Amino acid sequence: MGQTLCKWFPSMRTVCAGTQEAAGSREPACVLCGRVDEDSSILGHKEEYNGFYFHKFCVIFVNGLCEYVEGSSELFFWIEDLILTIRQAERTLCFVCGNLGASITCAEPGCGRSFHLPCASKGECVTQHFGKFRSFCREHRPQQAVEAAPEQDTTCIVCMEPVGDSMSYSTMVCPACRHAWFHRACIQEQALRAGFYCFQCPLCRDRDWFITDMHIMGIRIPIREPTWEDNDAYASLLERHGSCDASHCLYPHGREQAEGEGPWQLLLCSSCAAQGTHRRCSNLSHSAASWECNACAGEDTASSTNSDLAGDSTISQQGLGPSRGSETPESSSSSTTSHAPSGPADCSPVPESSG
Ligand SMILES: [Zn+2]
Ligand SMILES: [Zn+2]
Ligand SMILES: [Zn+2]
Ligand SMILES: [Zn+2]
Ligand SMILES: [Zn+2]
Ligand SMILES: [Zn+2]
Ligand SMILES: [Zn+2]
Repeated sequence: MGQTLCKWFPSMRTVCAGTQEAAGSREPACVLCGRVDEDSSILGHKEEYNGFYFHKFCVIFVNGLCEYVEGSSELFFWIEDLILTIRQAERTLCFVCGNLGASITCAEPGCGRSFHLPCASKGECVTQHFGKFRSFCREHRPQQAVEAAPEQDTTCIVCMEPVGDSMSYSTMVCPACRHAWFHRACIQEQALRAGFYCFQCPLCRDRDWFITDMHIMGIRIPIREPTWEDNDAYASLLERHGSCDASHCLYPHGREQAEGEGPWQLLLCSSCAAQGTHRRCSNLSHSAASWECNACAGEDTASSTNSDLAGDSTISQQGLGPSRGSETPESSSSSTTSHAPSGPADCSPVPESSG
């Protein structure tokens, strides 16, 4: 009858940036989660329709509210259904924060747990950014199907901090290689940066199995080119392993930072790609293009490189342990290399932008 169709037209007004900057005007809160300023990578941009302000994902994850436009991937909903949803949420408690206004309900039949989208990660809920956009509470969230347990002292392949002792909401594993362990928050951050076309296991680079599993587990993988697309391959190296692991990192801006060339460029181990060093921190010459970490080159040897080490004689720190924080014997000589170079560092090209 008098129903109003609200469709995700690409031209639909996104109010996120504009209203925040308007002096003196308070930005309206989302009618579903009640928040004003929240992380748009989780909630989506705030949109406005008929005077209703809402986060895109706050609407999309309401069970049964949105439908696909026939034959397309566009979603739409009826504004009357949104009003009904708001009314219902006003009487629904969030099982995470205990406040009213919870509009997202676990998709498991018979489970009545509801939550606010911004409360999802605190409550260990999973929201699936594909298909029917289903959501699950802590108890009914999908579990990774692979059988794997991290070895003792396993670290996250993204942030190098320890992971938990078993698979959990926050400790996840690559289903393909079962060797890459990571924190949920770390892999989510990487998915947002990489985008669908470049997202892969940081270790084995599997895509199909990895992406499917991460989707099911609630990782949001936006369909877009990576955010480093304007950069060169150096940025894509950083994406795979982004820090200097030398026992004494000398870069004033820290281990996580690097430059595109010169003494502060980050080289990854040409064998394992899981260790990195600034050229200077391992006493490599400015033209050194390849380097092997101590673990790969053999514990007793200094770093191995395919070019001479004479270029930089002012720095004496040397050595790189198999993992950050391990002791490396001081070495006064850096001119002996006992390992043949194993080829240039392998760097994956950044795909061409498709438009
Ligand atoms: Zn919201
Ligand atoms: Zn809540
Ligand atoms: Zn549930
Ligand atoms: Zn991590
Ligand atoms: Zn893997
Ligand atoms: Zn360094
Ligand atoms: Zn290595």
